[in-house]
Amino acid sequence: MTRLSLPMVEQRSSQLEKCVYCPKLCRAACPISNAEPNETLTPWGKMSSVYFAGRGLAPLDAETASLAWACTGCLACKERCDHKNPVADVLSEARGPLAELGLQPKESSAIVARGESRRLRLKQAVAELSQELGPAVVGDGPPLLLGCGYTLKHLEVAGLAARVAAKLVGGPVSLLDGCCGYPERMAGDAAGSAHLSKELASTCSGRAPLVLDVGCAQSLRPALSDVRLVLDLAFENLDRFKPIAIEPSELPRYHDPCLLGRGLGRYEEPRRLLGKVLGQAPLEFHRNRAAADCSGAGGLVPVVRPETSKTMAEQRLAQADSGPLVTACASSLTRFRRSGAKVDDLVVFLAKGLGLTS
Ligand code: SF4
Ligand code: SF4
Repeated sequence: MTRLSLPMVEQRSSQLEKCVYCPKLCRAACPISNAEPNETLTPWGKMSSVYFAGRGLAPLDAETASLAWACTGCLACKERCDHKNPVADVLSEARGPLAELGLQPKESSAIVARGESRRLRLKQAVAELSQELGPAVVGDGPPLLLGCGYTLKHLEVAGLAARVAAKLVGGPVSLLDGCCGYPERMAGDAAGSAHLSKELASTCSGRAPLVLDVGCAQSLRPALSDVRLVLDLAFENLDRFKPIAIEPSELPRYHDPCLLGRGLGRYEEPRRLLGKVLGQAPLEFHRNRAAADCSGAGGLVPVVRPETSKTMAEQRLAQADSGPLVTACASSLTRFRRSGAKVDDLVVFLAKGLGLTS
């Protein structure tokens, strides 16, 4: 048995104790414990485990430590909590000292170990995309971060986003090829993550970057306070989007990404943009906006607890018919596509609404 004391437990004692002494008011909110019914996987169970093990009052082994990785960062518990307790922040912060003790899940260490090769692939992909898009789209204009979630997994969406941004700013954008550090932060390598986001910030030459993926925007904010979402740029230009012709069976249902909705409060902006392009409001999940369920895509859960992530996606998809979906984050796009859903990114509709594609 490892007896230890995690300094972060003292620094976060107020938030941890709120959960420890709480009658689990957010119990039904956590998609992890809903997908994998187990009391220790509720926000209360995870926070209590970190609290007692971090104070040396309970055994700490890899299984207990893994509870800190059983969180997608969906913010549903915070939304439900009377104290707005930042459970996701505390659990992700706990990953650092646990990783330093070698207690992290092996899939999480693999993320850090493979970081260099992922970043090299990202640079290569951005260089090739810049070449393909040409000087009308890529040049010396405002910096744009497409992110590895889009560039390495949904290159067609990344390319469309660059074209949308260039059209809206009225000239070429410069594509950033660095990493925001989100995977490292989620793997418990806070120092590595901070280094990467600072390095990326230094390549912006003092200009506020446009950011496509809300996860990248969240990671960059400590290093760069003035990041701007492509979504916000599009919304400021709402009048420029024109309606497209669409068959009733093609009308998509909008999934609220957790970090965009509960994280940044962007509920109406994507709906108004879709409404403008579709000529009518998108369909809704019964559980939408602040009550939307997580797709199971965040916080490294798809690699650390793949079956749980799959169940979460299936539970979300079961709330809709088999018609098309639209989302606005690379992780949920990947997760839903992997589960066989017909899903597009908001950017695909923005490109259509600007007449860039048919
Ligand atoms: S997040 Fe809030 S509601 Fe949930 S267990 Fe902690 S204190 Fe209670
Ligand atoms: S942030 Fe989401 S996944 Fe994490 S503990 Fe809270 S409800 Fe569960």
